[in-house]
Amino acid sequence: MGYVEDWKELMFNLQCLNKGSAKRQFRQDLKYAFGGLCAYCRENRATTLDHIKPKSCGGSSLRSNLLPCCRPCNHAKASENWLVWYQRQEFYNTIAQELIEEWIANERIDVEELEDERFNDRTAICIAACTI
Ligand SMILES: [Zn+2]
Repeated sequence: MGYVEDWKELMFNLQCLNKGSAKRQFRQDLKYAFGGLCAYCRENRATTLDHIKPKSCGGSSLRSNLLPCCRPCNHAKASENWLVWYQRQEFYNTIAQELIEEWIANERIDVEELEDERFNDRTAICIAACTI
């Protein structure tokens, strides 16, 4: 049940920015979550967002279901189960798998985010703005 945070973040951005730039910001934040690299191969730049559970299988567009990845990986994975697909890849490694699983469980918190005062302020304002 980690979805609320993301929703709050998106809501905050929607309130404070226009709709287009809020969405852009949301996607931008996601892309840089793995250091700007593809979460699967960690070689190419993450230029796309993969639906971990494909939309066609009822996957959501929430942060926990979106993984920054490169176009080749996104394309190769298509609508296959991410873990089945990932374990077959040459670049598969268990640590990366754990990171992705934490991401899906929404437990991964970046150290930079915790140290970033703006992030804390934003969360505080956001919580205030969302207690309707
Ligand atoms: Zn990749």
